Amino acid sequence: MNNNPWIRSQEQLKAIAKKINLKPLLLARLLEPDRIITMSLPIKLDNGFVETFTGYRVQHNNILGPYKGGIRFHPNVSMDEVKALSFWMTIKCAVVDVPFGGGKGGITVNPKELSETELKKLTQVFAQRLSPIIGPTLDVPAPDVNTNPTIMSWIVDEYSKIVGKNSPAVITGKPVDKGGSLGRTEATGFGGGYVLLHALKKLKLDKKKEITVAVQGFGNVGYHVALFLAEHGFKVVAVSDSKEAIYVEKGLNPEKTYACKKNNAMLSNCFCVGNACDRTYGKTISNQELLELPVDILIPAALENVITVENANKVKAKIIVELANGPLTHEADEILDTKGIIVIPDILANAGGVCVSYYEWYQNMKKQHWTKEKVFTKLQKQMERVTDEVFTTQKKYGTNLRDAAYILAINRLQKGIK
Ligand code: NAD
Repeated sequence: MNNNPWIRSQEQLKAIAKKINLKPLLLARLLEPDRIITMSLPIKLDNGFVETFTGYRVQHNNILGPYKGGIRFHPNVSMDEVKALSFWMTIKCAVVDVPFGGGKGGITVNPKELSETELKKLTQVFAQRLSPIIGPTLDVPAPDVNTNPTIMSWIVDEYSKIVGKNSPAVITGKPVDKGGSLGRTEATGFGGGYVLLHALKKLKLDKKKEITVAVQGFGNVGYHVALFLAEHGFKVVAVSDSKEAIYVEKGLNPEKTYACKKNNAMLSNCFCVGNACDRTYGKTISNQELLELPVDILIPAALENVITVENANKVKAKIIVELANGPLTHEADEILDTKGIIVIPDILANAGGVCVSYYEWYQNMKKQHWTKEKVFTKLQKQMERVTDEVFTTQKKYGTNLRDAAYILAINRLQKGIK
């Protein structure tokens, strides 16, 4: 099967359609996005030259509510990637039972090569192009890879200027003082943690004393899941970023490691155990080696297609929790299935982010402010309920967890389609 994520997502859908009675109208609505937009984004750089970037917004489907999905700034962003991610958002919102549809956006850019002024200008031009097609009841973007609350606040400001009124509900993942929800930053990682804890109980695997974990990617999602799991007694032995991976046999302190990386910018200076960081506590490994470690749980939390036909046979983890979107190719998925490795699929595992995005949007629409405790209590309940539903669907249809999550989502969409 093709590793183009869009082709892959369509193939996934067609395979599910064959297993269940997917009605032709719903299949047609899911096979192509409702609307796709390509944007030309010229900006004047600090050196006076003009550079034109390309931006995208794909509105995949709004059967269950306004289009919803993040904005990614990355050199590999392409229309097909954005289309696939928007499709997965449609499915994810349906799995996790929030009243949103699916969308996604992005700019083909390496934001690390831009100054803050240039990045802000680029974001503002993007917001100008987006403004006719987004809105609190139309399309509500959010952060994704290389975008953050500050970038979201630039978009809200630009959008509010254009429509002539403060419109915080147009975007989620904002800074809290700009109408963001407490707990949104932690939501995807913590949500994955709630799903994993609940799944381990259901699989009767929660009794083991020391469960080892490796996390690929140490950004927003990777850091927060590592933090959550370390706080719940798991031993996080490896984490990585785009440059390198580190292995600490005794189990690392994610909070210290994250703070150390922020200061040093290199993970390999940050072998942190307990309250101390010392070079002798661990070793540097490659991202590839991290994926092949003999751990109980492997958590890809970086980019798509990192486990492929090339390395799937070398994976030794017993459970994979997909916090990145689409980290396994289809062939890798099949190999892992044959090996009896349990995969908790992205559309369930990383849905905590969109769940709290919904809480943020709801608070903005109703002019409410929830405490962090309320957010996490609701998030835990919702993630556990949908995990139960996915496991029940798995039993009913005799499938793996990914297919079960798809079937659950499609059944919800089928009820919503007019
Ligand atoms: P981020 O930009 O905060 O972090 C990405 C991390 O991945 C960084 O540590 C980066 O160094 C690392 N990375 C990049 N390329 C890599 C490579 N080739 N090998 C190893 N590591 C690499 O992004 P994020 O928000 O943490 O998102 C991570 C993943 O989670 C993405 O797939 C995203 O779509 C998905 N996701 C994010 C959210 C959210 O709320 N942020 C929600 C759902 C899904």
